[in-house]
Amino acid sequence: MAELREFYDGDDDNAHIEFQKWRQQHQDGYFLNYKGPSNILIHHVLCWHLRDPTDLDRSEDPSSLTRLKKVCSTDRDTLRQWARGKSVKNLKQCQDCM
Ligand SMILES: [Zn+2]
Repeated sequence: MAELREFYDGDDDNAHIEFQKWRQQHQDGYFLNYKGPSNILIHHVLCWHLRDPTDLDRSEDPSSLTRLKKVCSTDRDTLRQWARGKSVKNLKQCQDCM
């Protein structure tokens, strides 16, 4: 099973930056956007819904990408397993990047 990382502002003030760094280092990875147990979308790391992963400067756009929890892995099955463990009913895939 591949490594799994969680990034969430509620857990860590640096979550946004750490998430962006993880995206830079794992450009073939995936992440879950966790809005709640019935609302989770799986994206490819480079999904254009999110700003560029190299953009670590928040002076122009201070909004955080990790206001909603992001769960990351290089392996989709690892993320699906995580979702099952959280009793997620339907894990949806982003139509734009998957
Ligand atoms: Zn996407």
